[in-house]
Amino acid sequence: MTDVLISGAGVAGPALAWWLRRHGFRPTVVERAPAPRDGGYKVDIRGAALTVVDRMGLREQVSRHDTGMWRTRFVDAGGRQLATMDAALFGGREGDDVEIMRGDLARILIEATGDVEYVYGDSIAALDQSAGGVEVAFERGPNRRFDLVIGADGLHSTVRRLAFGPGSEYLRTLGHHIAIFTVPAEYGEERVELMHAAPGRTVGVYRTAGAPDARALFLCPSPAEEPDHRDVAAQRAALAAAFAGAGWRVPELLAAMADAPDFYFDAMSQVRMDRWSTGRIGLVGDAGYGASPASGQGTSLSLVGAYVLATSLAEAGGDPVAGFATYERRMRPFVAANQQLAERNLKGMVLGSNAQIRFQTLMLRLMPRLPGREGMIRRVTEPIRKAATAITLPPAPGLDTPVAG
Ligand SMILES: Cc1cc2nc3c(=O)[nH]c(=O)nc-3n(C[C@H](O)[C@H](O)[C@H](O)COP(=O)(O)OP(=O)(O)OC[C@H]3O[C@@H](n4cnc5c(N)ncnc54)[C@H](O)[C@@H]3O)c2cc1C
Repeated sequence: MTDVLISGAGVAGPALAWWLRRHGFRPTVVERAPAPRDGGYKVDIRGAALTVVDRMGLREQVSRHDTGMWRTRFVDAGGRQLATMDAALFGGREGDDVEIMRGDLARILIEATGDVEYVYGDSIAALDQSAGGVEVAFERGPNRRFDLVIGADGLHSTVRRLAFGPGSEYLRTLGHHIAIFTVPAEYGEERVELMHAAPGRTVGVYRTAGAPDARALFLCPSPAEEPDHRDVAAQRAALAAAFAGAGWRVPELLAAMADAPDFYFDAMSQVRMDRWSTGRIGLVGDAGYGASPASGQGTSLSLVGAYVLATSLAEAGGDPVAGFATYERRMRPFVAANQQLAERNLKGMVLGSNAQIRFQTLMLRLMPRLPGREGMIRRVTEPIRKAATAITLPPAPGLDTPVAG
């Protein structure tokens, strides 16, 4: 049996474990966090990724955890409503598309992988594939040997750093930072996304259906001096500086960040690499081709990538190099199409001037009455739908009937 070590129990890791197990491999997942990471932010699943979820037999479970978001309300610095729109349209969702909290999706995937071994609270420290197989040294546990190692450990992947080099050369930043953290429920309205735009910076608060708390989201130009990613105090200070003087409830939200258990602040970045494997080591999801939160497609890329990688490795039998090559050939155009969405989306998420904000507000107010409304909506949703379906999924060998768990 082929032993595969997967680094990271986010979205791509457990999805890959699910498919590898189905194909007769023996996956083990190592996750740096001490336990499955709950909550997070809301993410989208659409297009080919929904087909993958269907083939796993998990559609019903996933849909049951839909965020149930209803409206997006745009407010001015005094909190007065400027315009409102359907939340699905704001998120570029249509038809069966699902919006789910990242933690809910990860938990569903982890639970579905059944008897797969998960090792929490550890990380790969060194990889050596000089003597056939891969000798893995861990930060805590004893060394172990695997036939294959896959990095599903996100934007700042450790496997990528160890197998391909330092890392920064693979990260392409989009010029903006994003912060997100939990705030008390009273800051949000249930099933509503509140958005406030000022020139060059945007802030929002949302509370999903039945959620006991809300999430605050901030977008701003990247600070001239990037705070160290381990220095949370410096990150908080950078965010506070970026939003100094902002109106609406920004001062209260910034005050609440001191108590947030899950403060996140990072550059919006994409991962661009010439190849996603070296020998017996490969990458999947954000680790290999992160599209950035601005694309809205990172989660779908991870689900599809996990499926295509497992299928390609299974088809290749005992030849991982051939399996990785097939995986890349199938995924490259899909990844390129989805990464392309990010910059265009970002332009609509952070507006540069008061004139742009006024124009957007006017368009949103007029939209319900505009004669060309349908065409305008299609111009928003069509590029997303096209990118989300820009792959023909290979059939999964031996799996005509999907079975859950
Ligand atoms: C603020 C924000 C908003 C987003 N919004 C959206 C959205 O609206 N729509 C969308 O589709 N996508 C969105 N995304 C992107 C989406 O979350 C990712 O694309 C998706 O989660 C990628 O899944 P992944 O499994 O590749 O990586 P991740 O979900 O990042 O999971 C990586 C896992 O690896 C673990 N890990 C890291 N280092 C190590 C290590 N050394 N050893 C072991 N484990 C390790 C981490 O703890 C984590 O559990 C957003 C991302 C962010 C940050």
